Amino acid sequence: MARIRGKNTRPEIAVRRVLHALGLRFRLHRRSLPGCPDIVLPKHRTVVFVQGCFWHGHDGCRRSALPKSNSRFWAEKIRRNRARDVLTGKALRAAGWRVRYVWECQTRDLVRLRRRLSTFFRGRRA
Ligand SMILES: [Zn+2]
Repeated sequence: MARIRGKNTRPEIAVRRVLHALGLRFRLHRRSLPGCPDIVLPKHRTVVFVQGCFWHGHDGCRRSALPKSNSRFWAEKIRRNRARDVLTGKALRAAGWRVRYVWECQTRDLVRLRRRLSTFFRGRRA
């Protein structure tokens, strides 16, 4: 599997729509930044990663349950993804970025998603 994180996935588009509705302006998939963040808000010096619950091992989420077969393989793969997420987050923060994560399962309910995202950016002037 070449790419873990697909581009323009449904959860990502949901997040983009809500950010847009909140009047926030952003760019997508900046390869120049560590981890090629899904969404970059330069004025807020913030990046947003929209994380697949399975691929990034969302703790306690039913979508992150490992398949019964090859579970060792999957556990190792997801462990590595998470380790990389930690390193990416550190590198971005070290470069002065705020890093926010939205889990795939948090993008189903748009009202709650909007509340969550507006909390992230509350009081931060664009
Ligand atoms: Zn989840």
